[in-house]
Amino acid sequence: MQRKVVIIGSGPAGLTAAIYASRAGLSPLVLEGPAPGGQLLTTTEVENFPGFENGVSGPELMDAMRRQATRFGAECRFSSATAVDFASRPFMVELDGSETVQADSVIIATGATARYLGLPSETALRGHGVSACAVCDGFFFRGKDVAVIGGGDTALEEACYLTRFANRVFLVHRRDQLRASKAMQQRIMANPKVSFVWNSVVDEVISDDEGKSVAGLLLRDVKSGSSSVLAVQGMFLGIGHAPATEIFKGQIDLDEQGYIRLSHHTSTSIEGVFACGDVADSRYRQATTAAGSGAAAAIDCERWLADQGE
Ligand code: NDP
Repeated sequence: MQRKVVIIGSGPAGLTAAIYASRAGLSPLVLEGPAPGGQLLTTTEVENFPGFENGVSGPELMDAMRRQATRFGAECRFSSATAVDFASRPFMVELDGSETVQADSVIIATGATARYLGLPSETALRGHGVSACAVCDGFFFRGKDVAVIGGGDTALEEACYLTRFANRVFLVHRRDQLRASKAMQQRIMANPKVSFVWNSVVDEVISDDEGKSVAGLLLRDVKSGSSSVLAVQGMFLGIGHAPATEIFKGQIDLDEQGYIRLSHHTSTSIEGVFACGDVADSRYRQATTAAGSGAAAAIDCERWLADQGE
């Protein structure tokens, strides 16, 4: 099978790229990947995507984007790219470890995933008080007490943002020194709504009696070994993100954290391979910015193909 454009990933970046590429007559193949719809599928209510004044559910928004892309001729396949070969053109993309597709160009939109602690109680309460996105979910914690886990820039940014809504924000960190930049540290230290819980790790997220919301955190002091309960109604993770770039290692340039390095606009280090969304953006990580970069990648791709006479 040969395609003009293969889009890997189906979050806001991949599907917006698909809308633009299909409207340009390129009939893109979209490989939806292991989590079709991307990170928004784990978000209940999206209130900051322009055009939805009363908010929209993450799955609903992604479903509408997929339908919009297929209406113009994009083919969305419930397949994952398991290997790529960008050494020569046409590029090769392997699907689900078996079939291969040849592509004149590739748009990578595989996203990134927030890291979680991995506790069963945390998984059970995801979307019910456990979140990894203060910008998405902070609004729901007006007047409540919340905890943020981590000591890096992400955790401190989340904590600062949450003080707009929350009554108190507890920053729970496993050491007694922050990893975040000095500027961020000064900002957080000056914020009277933030309290620090040092040398502590979460052993369990405690739910209310019905198991439907967060009631507290069971913390363990790593120095003394003693346990205590922190009464909060929300837990936000700020322990880092992992870009989904495993299959691109050795094929295109990645930065030290594994994000795709863009050389010019949405171009990667390989001509004809473009990237958009969180996989190339450790800074904004928003559905709107991902969608915008998806449009840009499709436009860059279309122009590049035209320059090749394809
Ligand atoms: P970091 O890797 O910098 O920090 C992760 C934090 O989480 C660390 O404090 C780490 O603890 C803690 N942590 C990691 N795993 C666990 C765990 N299992 N349990 C408890 N705590 C854990 O990630 P960030 O996402 O904060 O930042 C990534 C990069 O992005 C950095 O370079 C950062 O500067 C940058 N960034 C920049 C921003 C900006 O400029 N505005 C905003 C956000 C990020 P420990 O310190 O003990 O290792």
